[in-house]
Amino acid sequence: MMGRTHALTGWCAGLGVAPLVGSGALHEAVVFAATTAGFALLPDLDHPGARASRLLGPATAALSWLLRRASAGMYAVTRLAGDDDSTGTHRHLTHTLAFAGAAGVATAAGTQTGGMYAVAAVAIVGLLLAENALGDWLLPVSLGAIAWWAVTSPGGLAELAQLSGWLGIAVALGCVVHCLGDALTESGCPFLWPIPIRGQTWYELRPPAWLRFRTGKTVENALIAPAATIAGVLLLPGVIDQLAPATEAVLSHF
Ligand SMILES: [Zn+2]
Repeated sequence: MMGRTHALTGWCAGLGVAPLVGSGALHEAVVFAATTAGFALLPDLDHPGARASRLLGPATAALSWLLRRASAGMYAVTRLAGDDDSTGTHRHLTHTLAFAGAAGVATAAGTQTGGMYAVAAVAIVGLLLAENALGDWLLPVSLGAIAWWAVTSPGGLAELAQLSGWLGIAVALGCVVHCLGDALTESGCPFLWPIPIRGQTWYELRPPAWLRFRTGKTVENALIAPAATIAGVLLLPGVIDQLAPATEAVLSHF
């Protein structure tokens, strides 16, 4: 799956989950969804050519290298006889539920300890990643939402420091959405590592063949990406409520 589709599906999932974590207002949902969209690109940090690895030049390139080494090491140590003869770098460690959970917990704990600046750092990385994949419109929209938040909340911007747990959920959700997207493409993901399945700890879970589609091919470009774009607008808080009376008014003329 391409970076843009990962970010788009992350955006939709973020908008869907935002009300469940108490972020049902438009500005909160936009910030939550932008964070989820950005971190839906994080698992591909294990590939040197991915958007996440190229985002901040040598800094993210070094992080990507470290992650590949960690993934390869983990693969070598935990693989079973049934596992493929692979280097264990791309689409391994970072494409598991364990990684999504660990990234979420680390984000929540790190931002809890680091306070407002750590929260801002995570949010900025998420926004930059999402903007890189979805386009420049996202930055003014998200910054506007954050400014609105600061103006309307009684605690001002300092209140953003309370968001640590919430950011952890956005990061973990983004990683899970990424893996689901990859599993729909030809490759599959070792979601349940290190639980052994059919003699493999890195068993790649994937849907039946008729449900899978090729990365960057017709189905993704002509179906998934446009559908996710439409859903990404319809899921914004208030849009359906606004559209319902308008649609009824139009239909009543027929
Ligand atoms: Zn991936």
